[in-house]
Amino acid sequence: MSLPLEINNLRKLYKGGTVEAVKGVSFNVNPGEIFGLLGPNGAGKTTIISTITTLEQPTTGSVNVFGVNVAKDPMFTKKQIGVVHQEVINSGFFDVEEILTFHSGYYGLRKNKERIHFLLNKLALFEHRNKKVKQLSGGMKRRLMIAKALVHTPKLLLLDEPTAGVDIRLREDLWKFVVELRNEGMSILLTTHYLEEAEQLCDRVGIINLGSLMALGNTKEIIRQYTHKKIRVILTERHPLQSPYLVETVGKEYMFIVPQNKSLGEFLNETKVPMELIKDVHIEEGDLEEAFLKITSKQEAQVPL
Ligand code: ADP
Repeated sequence: MSLPLEINNLRKLYKGGTVEAVKGVSFNVNPGEIFGLLGPNGAGKTTIISTITTLEQPTTGSVNVFGVNVAKDPMFTKKQIGVVHQEVINSGFFDVEEILTFHSGYYGLRKNKERIHFLLNKLALFEHRNKKVKQLSGGMKRRLMIAKALVHTPKLLLLDEPTAGVDIRLREDLWKFVVELRNEGMSILLTTHYLEEAEQLCDRVGIINLGSLMALGNTKEIIRQYTHKKIRVILTERHPLQSPYLVETVGKEYMFIVPQNKSLGEFLNETKVPMELIKDVHIEEGDLEEAFLKITSKQEAQVPL
């Protein structure tokens, strides 16, 4: 079976070749997964999304959606994907339901009221369906963009920073909806700045920096690979502890930064912590933000992994 999205060695040059926005990037989106494309500003995320939606042509390399090269059959691609861009629509003349009806027409769906009402309900827009776009709040406009992307029930959804500038409550509702869509079998590619949410939501992530893919894989494995475990040992009395992982001692509290693959038992044995002196042990696992910073910064880790 062909994959929802296959990007092979994608390269994109701008300005007559003087700007290399994407430098040979390859990754796939698997069926029914949420894939997070993460990277700092200017990393190349929007350029990649634009090549998938055929707004931009790859300089070299290929983008396939459900097995079909997007540059060769843009109409096929448009039917398979739904896109939520960063910009918010501002066509003030029509009301919410009219916009969704016209947009359905664009896909040849003339009787789409049931789907439109389903989406309006899901996105808490039903009671606002007769409002003109200019009467909507920023959050409502954003939800309308998502409804628009979904009118034709796409199989692959592209979300480019869908929650930028959206308040926390709405963000949580949107993410819940995205998980629901995934659970129903939709494949989702999203770019986001909110790494905590990416960690909760994304089955896999790709981290790009300056146009190159720096890490790709299962979110939990990436965290394990690029982060350390912080172990804080609190003793009942001061005791000299020898360890290459000791980073700070404050009174009877000792802070260690330890490789992820080292178990607590192994660590306590190696460090020769007298069991009878242990009052408490706290373990803090690494998170995606820590992994992201490690991957995107040029600094080497101070502690060997
Ligand atoms: P991101 O979405 O990760 O912030 P972009 O894909 O927007 O990154 O941009 C990647 C790089 O390509 C940046 O250096 C940006 O300035 C450059 N770039 C993007 N679009 C164009 C364009 N149309 N012309 C010239 N340079 C561009």
